[in-house]
Amino acid sequence: MTDPDESIPNAVPYLAGKEWEYLKECLDTNWVSSIGPFVDRFERDMATYLNAKHGIAVVTGTAALHVALLAADVGPDDEVLVPSLTFVATANAIRYCGAWPVFMDSDAKTWTMDATKTSEFLARECELRRGALVNRATGRRVKAMLPVHLYGHPADLDAFLDLAKRYPLALIEDATESLGSRYKGRRVGVSGLAGCLSFNGNKIITTGGGGMVVTNDDQTARRLRSLTTQSRADLAEWIHDAVGFNYRLTNLQAALGVAQLEQLDRFVEAKRATAEAYTQALAGLPGVEVCTEQPWAVSNFWMYSILLDPAIWGSARKVIDAASAARIQCRPLFYPIHRQPPYQSCPAYRVEVADRLHARGLSLPCSVGITPAQRDRVIQFLSHLK
Ligand SMILES: *Cc1c(COP(=O)(O)O)cnc(C)c1O
Repeated sequence: MTDPDESIPNAVPYLAGKEWEYLKECLDTNWVSSIGPFVDRFERDMATYLNAKHGIAVVTGTAALHVALLAADVGPDDEVLVPSLTFVATANAIRYCGAWPVFMDSDAKTWTMDATKTSEFLARECELRRGALVNRATGRRVKAMLPVHLYGHPADLDAFLDLAKRYPLALIEDATESLGSRYKGRRVGVSGLAGCLSFNGNKIITTGGGGMVVTNDDQTARRLRSLTTQSRADLAEWIHDAVGFNYRLTNLQAALGVAQLEQLDRFVEAKRATAEAYTQALAGLPGVEVCTEQPWAVSNFWMYSILLDPAIWGSARKVIDAASAARIQCRPLFYPIHRQPPYQSCPAYRVEVADRLHARGLSLPCSVGITPAQRDRVIQFLSHLK
């Protein structure tokens, strides 16, 4: 029997491997800071896992996005195409560069940046001026696309790669939620100029806080390494060739990362088993649209989410509050960023689906360590609400 009063969290870390052993090794050997054997090993192991040439470990996923954009030459008053439905960090990283987001809509099936509307925006609203791609309405230069593999499901990468060939645009992947997911067989994060990962506490693996940029491009890797270490140009002298950042991950955090990465395949299996259990149980309920996977995708199902028909269920917020009263922690989908105070004046192109998803969606408890009994409690709760 499970305790009906036990609280079921949305998503919490699962530390079941060699985390303790590796952390102790750091303390025993005095390697605790931003240089150390676990940093090198974490970068190497992650690059191997993703089949990428380089991994550059950084302090957060947000920092990964910031330096990846800088490495793509995104600068003041440039524009970057980004989905409105994502965590705010994706857009914030663009502003850190002094650039502006242009918000794109979500695809109704994958909930990720709509490649068809993006293509339409580029064809209708932009033009080439002396080799530069310019947004006619703002007069600003469009430099990059930053699709997000939202909640674990890959964006349609080949469509974005095609746009990156047709226009002078860099492709950077926000893969912070999708480590372990695949697009047409290949891992997400390695298709464009750079991919960004996060190891925040509720991501599929965690280092407490942390991130990484992965790239196959040698020059980009060198730039990223330099930018994240205060652009120190000369290791013998205090000479810095640009304004850099102190963004390096510590050996302590990397030790956790190495231990977590060793368990990633099992974590993905656990997330997928949870997704399957929810889908089987909930697909038959009236007015429920379950989380699906495109035929070309393998999702890590980082954050299992469903849509509720408001005619049958009322508002998603009401269901989240009722779940909370039953000690089940659901969460709303991200609030579309083009509606957020710091971003309301930024351009948005025909964003409609993102708003509809936000109004109807919620994410269910889906920790790696969630038990079948806990899942059943979530399923029973939803079944009885209806
Ligand atoms: C978590 C997340 C980030 C930022 O990662 P942090 O490590 O928390 O800085 C960026 N983008 C998306 C879509 C995320 O979910």
